[in-house]
Amino acid sequence: MATWQQRFPGVAEADWRDWRWQQRHALRSAEALSRVVELTAEERAGIAATADVFRLGVTPYYASLMDPHHPFCPVRMQAIPLPGEAVSGPGELRDPLGEDRNRPVRALVHKYPDRALLLVTDTCPVYCRHCTRRRITGGTEDAFDRGAIEEALDYLRRRPEVRDVIVSGGDPLVLADDRLAWVLEGVRAIPHVQILRLATRGPVTCPMRVDAALARLLRSVKPLFVVTHFNHAKECTGEAQAACELLVDHGVPVENQTVLLRRVNSSARAIADLNHRLLSWRVRPYYLHQGDLAQGTGHLRTPLSAGVAILEQLRGHTSGLAIPHLAVDLPGGGGKVTLQPDYVLSRDPGGTWFRGFRGGRYHVPEPPEAGIDCPYDEVFYPGG
Ligand code: SF4
Repeated sequence: MATWQQRFPGVAEADWRDWRWQQRHALRSAEALSRVVELTAEERAGIAATADVFRLGVTPYYASLMDPHHPFCPVRMQAIPLPGEAVSGPGELRDPLGEDRNRPVRALVHKYPDRALLLVTDTCPVYCRHCTRRRITGGTEDAFDRGAIEEALDYLRRRPEVRDVIVSGGDPLVLADDRLAWVLEGVRAIPHVQILRLATRGPVTCPMRVDAALARLLRSVKPLFVVTHFNHAKECTGEAQAACELLVDHGVPVENQTVLLRRVNSSARAIADLNHRLLSWRVRPYYLHQGDLAQGTGHLRTPLSAGVAILEQLRGHTSGLAIPHLAVDLPGGGGKVTLQPDYVLSRDPGGTWFRGFRGGRYHVPEPPEAGIDCPYDEVFYPGG
């Protein structure tokens, strides 16, 4: 595979390693992309058909990971649109997770009692073709300006039940450190918010964004979890590894959410390889998401059975640490549910019959259900 210097001749190394340069030089047209990959007729048609549907933008770094000759390259498929994206399929929704009806102020979604989602930007270094929040990242909303964030912080201050805030967008790591610090410190100053999460594809699409100053900032508002979004082992480069390890070395835990995408990572081999690499960097595979019903993403979604079959092939064959939760975010705001292979064969009065991962039958004897309350709870949790 050609190096980035061969793919982008004439670019100085200092520029390449500068995240602002990467974002300023994102490839935003068929003409720009065709200098890096041999675009197929279908990809050219997809770019033309989606020009008014959803943004196109690929950092030179992410483009340098693309296989220039193979249209099924998983990096290409995530970043270059196909004509199917211009079609809204059955059941697809503009707001697949019902966020807008739970949006008390412009920059905040409050759908679950104790958690809230703070939207700090509508832009990203790379626009993923499977993006579930494309109604926001499409750039058709009001900007998430300082006033909108202040309004959201005000809302959070008045809601003591919120103990977990996810900072998202768009990709929050498009913000400069001082702006990000203002947001994160603003949330951290709210006494009832216990946990912060930062949802970002930065380590995947622009790993040069992660430096020691950012890691120190994220550490300073602990406990903060970085939740990133690697979908394929092809994204697991030395630069991505350095970004993740820098965060972990600074005491910032990193978890990964993968979206299951048809012909991108819809095999047990692809998911196992990705998760093994992430674990070796101390990044914990957290969720494997069934693709949401976002408009124009039907060609990338898999049937539910595909995710279950992948888990079935992983369970017993690799460490439980490498096996994520398979989550389905129910359309319209029903929240997440998880799926897994069914190992229960039958129940009898004495216990439960299971099949093991190799297929044998196993009986687990069970004690009676009565008397499983914890009497010491009343002492340890006085008043309920
Ligand atoms: S980085 Fe996240 S928010 Fe941005 S386009 Fe990709 S999936 Fe959507």
